[in-house]
Amino acid sequence: MCDSCNVMIINGVVCHEAGCPDAWRDEERECQWCGQKFIPEDKHQRCCSESCEMDYQGIPYEPEEDYEDVDLLVEKAIEARNDEWASRNMGPNEY
Ligand SMILES: [Zn+2]
Ligand SMILES: [Zn+2]
Repeated sequence: MCDSCNVMIINGVVCHEAGCPDAWRDEERECQWCGQKFIPEDKHQRCCSESCEMDYQGIPYEPEEDYEDVDLLVEKAIEARNDEWASRNMGPNEY
């Protein structure tokens, strides 16, 4: 079930050992944008869907467009924001 630890099933819930690097695979997260619960497919996933992820990153979502490159778009948005911070001589944590 998990390659990185011995999981235990407690009350039907999969529990990984503390510090297991793969624990996120069974972790239920709340979408940062719409608050919906979801199981992440990617360790750094913050939103339940690509459209939420894009809204969260401030990328306009056009449903008719093909978003195969959504990761790339998100990356670009993060980069652009980092550039903006850099140009203002601010770190991501200093608003
Ligand atoms: Zn585990
Ligand atoms: Zn969402």
